[in-house]
Amino acid sequence: MKKIYFDYAATTPTDPEVLAAMEPYFFEKFGNASSLHAYGQEAKKALEDSREALAGFINARPEEIVFTSGGTESDNSALLGAACALEKKGNHIITSAIEHHAITEPAKFLEKKGFKITYLGVDKDGLVSPDELKKAITDKTILISIMHANNEIGTIQPIARLGGIAKEKGIYFHTDAVQTIGHIPVNVDQLNVDLLSLSAHKFYGPKGVGALYIRKGTRLETFMRGGDQEKGRRASTHNVPGIVGLAKAVQLCRRNMESEAEFQISLRDRLIKEIPARIPEVRLNGHPIERLPNNVNFSIKYIEGESMLLSLDMLGIACSTGSACTSSSLEPSHVLLAIGLNHETAHGSLRITFGRWTKGSDIDYLLEKLPGVVQKLRAMSPLYEKK
Ligand SMILES: *Cc1c(COP(=O)(O)O)cnc(C)c1O
Repeated sequence: MKKIYFDYAATTPTDPEVLAAMEPYFFEKFGNASSLHAYGQEAKKALEDSREALAGFINARPEEIVFTSGGTESDNSALLGAACALEKKGNHIITSAIEHHAITEPAKFLEKKGFKITYLGVDKDGLVSPDELKKAITDKTILISIMHANNEIGTIQPIARLGGIAKEKGIYFHTDAVQTIGHIPVNVDQLNVDLLSLSAHKFYGPKGVGALYIRKGTRLETFMRGGDQEKGRRASTHNVPGIVGLAKAVQLCRRNMESEAEFQISLRDRLIKEIPARIPEVRLNGHPIERLPNNVNFSIKYIEGESMLLSLDMLGIACSTGSACTSSSLEPSHVLLAIGLNHETAHGSLRITFGRWTKGSDIDYLLEKLPGVVQKLRAMSPLYEKK
């Protein structure tokens, strides 16, 4: 049976070149990067070369990079770290209604601790309004956190403008760039950000490793205490193989990103055109143009995302409904509700995300199979009968 992976937003395969770069750091070069002997120095060299490679990729300085265990840790560190460091200055944080749970959950935790959180709404395409951000700022605002691109609907926010507003007011700006690094250009100066989260497994690196960019001079309370790794900003023995893998993944994206994005945009726009042509009563979720090259998200009316996902899975097609983190709960995605979908329409969403190994023929196969799946499910749907 065919097996096609359309869930690159949940995770990507580790590129075999990345795997090969990591391999020596498990046995041959296994040293602890904090050790002073030759084993340690060999690991330390790999660590610092990796830091330089990542910094160069996002136009940061090496000392502004802190390696973490992934996107979730970077997001938590940014929010909790800034809240802790600046609590005497103010207790107000602004974020959006469509953030990943790695932002909304620490935000809710801070709310319980007495912080005030403003969740900015978005328009029907998923965009945050710069004017609304301006209006939400108070003299107690200490941090603004808005994601670069959304993991469900793919909308890319005008971060340079939003970050510029924060900069003017002297407020820290954080962006969760987990979905954009390695897929579209990311430059911390052009984006006007002080803090930025990224994760290797979303751009063909290994799982369990990521980084937080911290602009020089940004005050952030330490989140992980212990040894003095990362200049005391993040304790714990360095995940050297993972960090080497992250850097190799960066190198491959540096080389391939532009051509990959161009090809993926052609696949994306084909689906955006062909799905509504073949299936009646569907709605594209997310911005038609300001969107990730590899993301397509449709609401397919009168059916449930879960049943669609399982029917496609039986045909060897792996997609997602909502995001992987919410798909086990029955509540529809907070992102789809935020762009104004009603519960029914939100439940019938299908996210198709692709990447480095997706071929044009994979798109053909999906376009061939999807209409039949939808027709079959609609035929069984009481909602479809009633209309
Ligand atoms: C995947 C993802 C995360 C979480 O990253 P992990 O490395 O899996 O912890 C955070 N934010 C966004 C937007 C993501 O897509």
